[in-house]
Amino acid sequence: MKTFKLASTLALNNISINREQALSIIDTDFNQLMCEANRIRQRYHNNDIAICSIVNARSGQCSENCKFCAQSIHNSAAIDSFDMLPPEKIVSAFNSANKYPISHFGLVTSGRNEAGG
Ligand code: SF4
Repeated sequence: MKTFKLASTLALNNISINREQALSIIDTDFNQLMCEANRIRQRYHNNDIAICSIVNARSGQCSENCKFCAQSIHNSAAIDSFDMLPPEKIVSAFNSANKYPISHFGLVTSGRNEAGG
């Protein structure tokens, strides 16, 4: 707890923490962790938020078997499955999202690489 409190104080003062201090976070009481994390968030970001948007640019048919993921071909979840969206659909999705004050726009694709699979 003492090491964690030091790590939190260093973070609040924009000083890097070392490995031991970083690992001390694991042993910290959850409520204490949330309290300190909130103090650090308020120190650096106040109550500001950043809004981002994503488009599901390729869905399903992934050959990997990540147990949590509905995109895997091994998962029986009923999802829409489709190949990479054509550029005009991605641009259209961006234009729709860009009506809002987003700071980032991401393309989310299933698969283990750019080609899918
Ligand atoms: S889409 Fe990504 S997370 Fe999902 S099964 Fe494939 S590799 Fe795993």
